[in-house]
Amino acid sequence: MKNFNSQVFEKVEITAAAAEGKSLARVDNRVIFISNAVPGDIADIRITRKQKKFFEGVATNFHRYSEKRTPPLCKHFGLCGGCKWQHLDYQWQLHYKRQQVIDAFSRIGKIQFPEVLPIIGSKEIYNYRNRLDFSFSNKKWLTIEEINSGETFDRNALGFHIPGTFDKVLDLEECHLQGNNSEQIRKFVREFCSEKKYSFFDIRAQHGLMRTLTIRTAHTGEIMVIVQFFENDPEKRDELLSAIAEKFPQITSLMWVVNPKGNDTFNDLSIHTFSGRDHIFEKMPDRSARPDEPFGRDTDGEDLQFKIGPKSFYQTNSAQAYELYKVAREFAGLTGKENVYDLYTGTGTIALFIAKLAKKVTGVELVPAAIADAKENAELNNIKNTNFFAADMKDIFTSAFMAENGKPDVIITDPPRTGMHEDVVRCMADSGAEKVVYVSCNPASQARDLALLDEKYSVEKVQPVDMFPQTHHVENVCLLRKR
Ligand code: SAH
Repeated sequence: MKNFNSQVFEKVEITAAAAEGKSLARVDNRVIFISNAVPGDIADIRITRKQKKFFEGVATNFHRYSEKRTPPLCKHFGLCGGCKWQHLDYQWQLHYKRQQVIDAFSRIGKIQFPEVLPIIGSKEIYNYRNRLDFSFSNKKWLTIEEINSGETFDRNALGFHIPGTFDKVLDLEECHLQGNNSEQIRKFVREFCSEKKYSFFDIRAQHGLMRTLTIRTAHTGEIMVIVQFFENDPEKRDELLSAIAEKFPQITSLMWVVNPKGNDTFNDLSIHTFSGRDHIFEKMPDRSARPDEPFGRDTDGEDLQFKIGPKSFYQTNSAQAYELYKVAREFAGLTGKENVYDLYTGTGTIALFIAKLAKKVTGVELVPAAIADAKENAELNNIKNTNFFAADMKDIFTSAFMAENGKPDVIITDPPRTGMHEDVVRCMADSGAEKVVYVSCNPASQARDLALLDEKYSVEKVQPVDMFPQTHHVENVCLLRKR
């Protein structure tokens, strides 16, 4: 096989942003996807891979930096996989996210759609996440400089997995994604475990005491901390948890779990409460900054409380989740008479958000624990016109199901990244619903599904929302109307 690694194109201008956070240039009518440049840069591009229809490459020598760049805030930028677009000015991040939707709809969907509305940006572009999961590892990632220095380093780390590696973890010195003492808690736990010589997890050998640290926060100020151990060592566990509780009395819920399995997921294990409650509360919307508009005085059915347990799913950017749900509500255009379905309802948040404006809402979701949360949250908010079912969508969402639960006037759907199963799309096309509100975190799979629906439903509105600043991810809401 020919080695292309030596092929370099000189002084190439990067002209556009592409999917998955890459950027794009054209040389002799050939598309090159580049992993480390932004539109407007001029650079030498070394080709790393040749495909029939396109090349892949990396920028080596920069001749001009784009004016769309901005200095990254975080020292770990470039190595950490978390915030790949930090070097792109936020206004340009928004521009290219909206463009991603347009590109997916024209290239993959090949459908007619109206002008995509201006994307709704996030007020907070840092510290917007309410959940972070950090990994302990005894295989800290070392930089080239560190390796070349010949020094020996502490190889323990607490942070994020290095993209593309199985066992290497970046030892975080800073992270700007979560407020509410997250940074202090992580650092304290890291230092405590180092000082006490607790062993950090070895993924390959599957041993070590400390496995993961999860921090969840809410606008209410409440904090949940979950420490996951690989080994069962009650003495060390109590010592660590007591120290955390003493140092951070503001933690609402301090929990722990021992996970000896081959993967980090703890949703199938019992999680124990060390101190405080076994849940925190989130409120939507966040009224903490507006004391003149106290919680619970609304008329739209807003002002909801959500109980969040260690296994509950909740949108990770609470403030933007509210913006997203408002778009879905507006697109649904409810008058109080409608029979609504909320597919892929998770913990029922959209269903509950719109319930007071609908006659009835039926929520469907795969994960039984999420449905249990949805039911509990309906009760907590005194909402009586919702009904929730746990099942795989392709099995439950049938014409018989709709006959049983009432013909839908509006269907809201919010599937995972892969989009909807073909059977679900087909059933939706034949549902007779006047409107479909399609919320998606992946415009590519959304475009594919819209193409399948196109015969029966036309796209009337397209509204991107930015839930994840500093990343290339984009959320997109479409209003479809029956033809
Ligand atoms: N609408 C919710 C959650 C959307 S995330 C919110 O705003 O919070 C997508 C949801 O789809 C997840 O909760 C996931 O568990 C669920 N899901 C994934 N595959 C599914 C399937 N085959 N059938 C039903 N639900 C599924």
